[in-house]
Amino acid sequence: MKSLKTYILNKSGHFGQFGGRYIPELLIPIMEELEAAFYEAIKDKGFKAELADLYYNYSGRPTPLYFCSNLTKKLGGAKIFLKNEGLNHTGAHKINHCLGQALLAKKLGKKRLIAETGAGQHGLATATVAAKFGLECTIYMGAKDYQRQLPNVFFMERLGATVIPVQHGGQILRDAINAALKDLIANPTDTHYLLGTVCGPHPYPVMNTYFQSIVGREVRTQLISQTGKLPDYLVACVGGGSNAMGLFYEFLDDKRVRMIGVEAGGKRILENDKKCEHAARFQTGSVGIVEGFKSYFLQNHDGQIKETSSISAGLDYSGVGPQIAYLHDTGRIRMTYARDKDALTAYAMLAQEEGIIAALESCHALSQVIKLAPTLSKDKIIVFNCSGRGDKDLFIVSKQFGFDIGQNTGR
Ligand SMILES: *Cc1c(COP(=O)(O)O)cnc(C)c1O
Repeated sequence: MKSLKTYILNKSGHFGQFGGRYIPELLIPIMEELEAAFYEAIKDKGFKAELADLYYNYSGRPTPLYFCSNLTKKLGGAKIFLKNEGLNHTGAHKINHCLGQALLAKKLGKKRLIAETGAGQHGLATATVAAKFGLECTIYMGAKDYQRQLPNVFFMERLGATVIPVQHGGQILRDAINAALKDLIANPTDTHYLLGTVCGPHPYPVMNTYFQSIVGREVRTQLISQTGKLPDYLVACVGGGSNAMGLFYEFLDDKRVRMIGVEAGGKRILENDKKCEHAARFQTGSVGIVEGFKSYFLQNHDGQIKETSSISAGLDYSGVGPQIAYLHDTGRIRMTYARDKDALTAYAMLAQEEGIIAALESCHALSQVIKLAPTLSKDKIIVFNCSGRGDKDLFIVSKQFGFDIGQNTGR
C-alpha cells in the first residue's frame, strides 16, 4: 500500500477529492510563492536546524508525555498517556506552526503577519512570533470570540499586535478568516497570512501538518522509551485539525495504531437544524468548497454556511481540514464528538485526578478517552493530545461551575 505519510497526495494539493486551491486569481501567485518556499525549506538543513532551535529553546519542546496513573486507575482499563502541548510557550500547540510560518515569512522577505483567531490562542501565538521576528502584526477576531477571550486580546495588544473585532456574520472564526483573506488580497507583497490550522487553500494544510508533526514524532520516541510499545489508540480534538494531524501524522502508516478525532457536540445535534448548536461536521455536515478548499462543512442545502456553537472557541468552526476529511472517508481515522457538558466533566476529572487544568478543546478529546479506556484491557495504551492549558478559559469555565469571578465587562 502507498504510504499516507506524504505531505501531499497529488500535485494540485488534493487529498483524494479534498483540499485543493479554490481561490481568486489574485491569490494564486501568493500561494504558489508560499508553496515553493515551503517545499524548498523542508529540504534545507539550515531551515530545519533553525526551526528545531526555536522549538527547543524558545517554545520549550519536547513537551512531556505523561502517564496519567491516577486517571488510569480510576477508569480501570487501558493505560492513559497525556501529551502535554499545553506546556508550550503561549500555552498550546499552535506555536508549532506559527514558528514555522514566521521563519518562512522571513525567508520570503515579508514585513507583516496577519492572522485570524477563534480561541485567541492562534492570535496570541502569531503576535508572539511577530514580536520575536520584528514583524508588524494584525489579528482578525470574530466579535463574539473577541468578547469571550478578552484576556488573549489584552496579551496580543501587549505583544504589539493590532486586534480587529470582525462584526460580520456569526462574528466567529469563519468571519475572521474572510477578513484576513481580504487584507491579503489588498496587501499581497509585504504580508504573510499566517493561517492557524490545517485548513485553507494548498499549501496551508500540508504546511501546518508538517510543522505540527513534531508532536507525533516526540510521542513515538517518548512512548517507546517509557513502555517499549506503540500506542493502540491516539485521540485528539478536531477544530480545524492541526493538533490532531500533529499527533496522527507520524503514525499514519502504522496500521495497528487506531486514531479517533473528537469534534464539538455542543448542546445537542439535530439533523436538520437551521443554526447548529454544535460544530460536528462529520455528523450533519456535507462536502463543499468554502474558503478556498474542499472538505466537510456545516451548510444548508443551498451551500450557505451554518452558524456553529461550542463551549470551546477553538472547536467552533463550520469547516475541517481536508486531510482529516480524506482520512475519515478512507476509514483511517474515526470521528466522534463530545458535548459541552461532557467536556466539563472531563475538565473536572483531569484537574482532580492529575492536577492538570486543560483547555476546553482538549477536554473534548479527554471525554472520549474516559469513555474508551474502561472498555479496553489494561495492556492497551491510549495517547491523547492535551492541545492546550486551561488558563484562557477561566471566565467561561468559572461561570459553568457557578463561581462568580467578576466576568469581564467587554469594551
Ligand atoms: C485552536 C485550538 C484547538 C483547535 O484547533 P485544531 O487546529 O483543531 O488543533 C484545539 N485546542 C486548543 C488548545 C486550541 O487552542
